[in-house]
Amino acid sequence: MTNRPLYRRVLLKASGEALIGEQSFGIDVSVVDRIAADIAEVRALGIDVAVVIGGGNIFRGVAVASRGGDRVTGDHMGMLATAINSLALRTSLIKIGIEAVVLSAIAMPQICESFSQRKAMAYLNMGKVVIFAGGTGNPFFTTDSAAALRAAEIGADVLIKGTQVDGIYTADPKKDSTATRFDSLTHEEVMRRGLSVMDTAAVALARENNIPILVYSIHEKGGLAKVLRGEGYYTIVSD
Ligand code: UDP
Repeated sequence: MTNRPLYRRVLLKASGEALIGEQSFGIDVSVVDRIAADIAEVRALGIDVAVVIGGGNIFRGVAVASRGGDRVTGDHMGMLATAINSLALRTSLIKIGIEAVVLSAIAMPQICESFSQRKAMAYLNMGKVVIFAGGTGNPFFTTDSAAALRAAEIGADVLIKGTQVDGIYTADPKKDSTATRFDSLTHEEVMRRGLSVMDTAAVALARENNIPILVYSIHEKGGLAKVLRGEGYYTIVSD
């Protein structure tokens, strides 16, 4: 069969900025609804889906630090922002009949369950979409690193990074018209060339755990299922 999915369990990392849509700040619900629909399409293929969402559409810790404030508090604010985004995605998934849970690295029992690897595995095995909130739960990390960490913990076959463009380019294609897209790279090449697709800690963690990274455009409707079938445009990072 040509269009059989290539993966059994995936982890999708979406940056917070992807949720802004046409707005200048915050969450555009129509964008979250569309990402939820894309996830539903992948669930319909029988693929287990876990998600890590960033918080950059709301807050990043460096914004506090760059104005002389306490970085750790800033990062706590950033991690809370990821929880807001995670709740938005859960809401959109539940609206369309997809069972989803939020597991947070920071305890907030009135709002969602706390993360444990066993709980995550159990929910994924039940067919629920698992959304990991709160990043790694530690300051000085990013949600890219959280995504690589959770991908390793749940035994994901691939870490999917949804970005603004359809893969990894030699330079930012929005700024440099001569930039060309890579079809494939190794983890080592991504780090050596300093390609800014994910932070180095995330790429290193994925490499150590033999997890390929698939980079595609999160803005293309239906794009997620397509790239998981090996169709469309994307870059695959693997050794
Ligand atoms: N953050 C953190 N630890 C983590 C993950 C995230 O402290 O493990 C904080 C950090 O301040 C970061 C913010 O949460 O800037 C939002 O995450 P990120 O910048 O990765 O979001 P994205 O760029 O993907 O929207």
